[in-house]
Amino acid sequence: MPTFEYAPAPESRSIVSLRESYGLFINGEFSPSVDGRAFKTISPATEEVLAEVTEAGPADVDRAVTAARKAYEQTWSVMPGRERAKYLFRIARIVQERARELAVLESLDNGKPIRESRDVDIPLVAAHFFYHAGWADKLEYAGYGPAPRPLGVAGQVIPWNFPLLMLAWKIAPALACGNTVVLKPAETTPLTALAFAEICQQAGLPPGVVNIVTGAGETGRALVEHPGIDKVAFTGSTEVGKQIARACAPTRKKVTLELGGKAANIVFEDAPVDQAVEGIVNGIFFNQGHVCCAGSRLLVQESVYSEVLASLRRRLATLRLGDPLDKNTDVGAINSAAQLAKIRELSDVGEAEGAQRWSPPCELPVKGFWFPPTIFTGVSQAHRIAREEIFGPVLSVLTFRTPAEALEKANNTPYGLSAGVWTEKGSLILWMASRLRAGVVWANTFNKFDPTSPFGGYKESGYGREGGRHGLEAYLDV
Ligand code: NDP
Repeated sequence: MPTFEYAPAPESRSIVSLRESYGLFINGEFSPSVDGRAFKTISPATEEVLAEVTEAGPADVDRAVTAARKAYEQTWSVMPGRERAKYLFRIARIVQERARELAVLESLDNGKPIRESRDVDIPLVAAHFFYHAGWADKLEYAGYGPAPRPLGVAGQVIPWNFPLLMLAWKIAPALACGNTVVLKPAETTPLTALAFAEICQQAGLPPGVVNIVTGAGETGRALVEHPGIDKVAFTGSTEVGKQIARACAPTRKKVTLELGGKAANIVFEDAPVDQAVEGIVNGIFFNQGHVCCAGSRLLVQESVYSEVLASLRRRLATLRLGDPLDKNTDVGAINSAAQLAKIRELSDVGEAEGAQRWSPPCELPVKGFWFPPTIFTGVSQAHRIAREEIFGPVLSVLTFRTPAEALEKANNTPYGLSAGVWTEKGSLILWMASRLRAGVVWANTFNKFDPTSPFGGYKESGYGREGGRHGLEAYLDV
């Protein structure tokens, strides 16, 4: 097959004006921390320092919760839904207007390819605000009683894999339902949340309705354990999710947790192979595999194993890894040195346990955090790479002979967030979908998201739903 050289096509970063340092966004204004600590956020592709960000301590979290409480009682919860909707529509439109800037900023701080931040993350952020704006004045028709009430102040903690999109998943429904929020973005990706704070100012959102406190895990802990919070929404690791569940158990706080996953992407022998291979690639190499619902376990029917693997290897050889701001890039940088170390460690364990590792020829940049797209074959269910979330561009391939075997293997995991089924038989899709213990099942596609569709897990993938009518329940007193 001929190989093509691509000339670089970098997106200009001049559209982003980074400040040297950022304060905390509390009560509608940026302010310094009470005890003045700060940390740096870097570009994972180059290790260049992008900006200095304030670390919120417990006193700052307390200030933010107090501001959110006041805004909840005096402004937001007493405002008619149709008025709240206007603000949400306004935010959605500003996100669209500033889409290019936000996409560049997200790729800079997170390392994801601009193609993904531009075409997936940011359009979905706007879509979530538009969708929830529509609900704000129709909550009495949502099926939760004639006059559903908001919960109060929501404490929200989000991860680094989809920084602005996870913010939208959390903030849009909370505000639509009449709650106010204090949100903590991940330590490694705070910049788009701070840009969102500016958007709140631009939209004239009343002070205190949205508060952004930057910091690390300790800031998150101070937030979720604060007695002034009525609702906790968390997306992140199962380990931290369990800690939060334990901390909130003796309180009246309502909790939703969106945690890890180890999804099976199941390819039957009658599936269109080329289409399935695109779905497999999208399932695990999209966003460098930093996706909780990633299709990280490929289950292939034995009769088509060789054909699917050969096709997958050919396709992987065409993926381009490199500068996240280059419009030709398919695979960007790993988000942090710590995450890279975790991916390396689990991949080494895979080899040590006897699985065969393969990556296409792929030159890695010298600076920054990089890992090549990787496939493991000869994987058994007992292997750690088949059981644990790697959260990187690493695919474990297993085989099966019958639908019953595929189902058993797919469900043999402590997680239950998502799954994919590839077959031409509608009856088999329905048979599998009704038996897979996964919150989302995609058929002949993968990683499709829509604000109207609820998302969430079973078992150690957490509880509660985000998105759709179901997602409103998490922010209403029902
Ligand atoms: P964490 O669960 O540690 O981080 C998620 C968020 O929670 C971050 O904002 C983090 O802050 C914050 N946090 C950390 N500790 C606490 C605490 N005790 N109380 C409240 N908030 C806290 O995930 P990591 O970033 O450490 O990633 C580790 C692994 O988790 C990954 O390798 C992956 O397997 C999984 N993961 C799953 C995600 C998903 O979407 N399901 C998303 C991210 C990770 P900070 O980042 O500043 O430390």
